[in-house]
Amino acid sequence: MLSLPLSAPAGDPLSLLAIGAHPDDIEIGAGGLLLGLAESRLRTRYVVLTGTEERRQEARNAAHSFMPGADLIIEFFDLRAGRLPGVWGSVKEILEGVARSCSPDIIIAPSSADAHQDHRTIAEIVPTVFRDQLYLAYEIPKWDGDIGRPSMYVPLPAHVMQLKVELLVKCFPSQRERDWWDDEVFLGLARLRGMECRARYAEAFTCSKSVIVPTALARGNALDEDLPRTAPAG
Ligand SMILES: [Zn+2]
Repeated sequence: MLSLPLSAPAGDPLSLLAIGAHPDDIEIGAGGLLLGLAESRLRTRYVVLTGTEERRQEARNAAHSFMPGADLIIEFFDLRAGRLPGVWGSVKEILEGVARSCSPDIIIAPSSADAHQDHRTIAEIVPTVFRDQLYLAYEIPKWDGDIGRPSMYVPLPAHVMQLKVELLVKCFPSQRERDWWDDEVFLGLARLRGMECRARYAEAFTCSKSVIVPTALARGNALDEDLPRTAPAG
């Protein structure tokens, strides 16, 4: 199994942008990956586009619980849950604003194959705003049965997966009554993804764009000097 160090250039903290349509999306989709990055120096921009005040507080707690020690910037926006396709321009403007003020190494965000219209709208816009990042699209189990064929797996030790489930239950009490919200759903999907990559548990992602640089070519600023940077547009 190949290990990608996921190290930022020149000893900088690893810069992560996590985007969710709803409070809990990020943790359900990528909580194990976040826990796995806990030992990295992490600078995270955490962006959620909808949510009531109660759910935002849950998300705030979750961000700190899943990324203890990270340098965290948490932002919530007031868009209406379930209606993001109708405010496509607002979603684009929000993400453009985020892109103007940060240049993440890694983006975790929903997948364009996601059946939920809010998730899918974000996934449609992310690659038009961020051009040269590693974009890992997470998956979220749901009634629609849209579990797909991922292209990247992050194997998770059993204790990390158990911690993910414990934190989901602890951090999002408002969701516990939902009939799909239980340990078996989260563990079952992770076990299936683990089987697919010959691990006990895993989170799976669709890597819709990967930009990787062999170490020798990343030394100095040679790549930056070759191409003047302009603001992303699209
Ligand atoms: Zn969601």
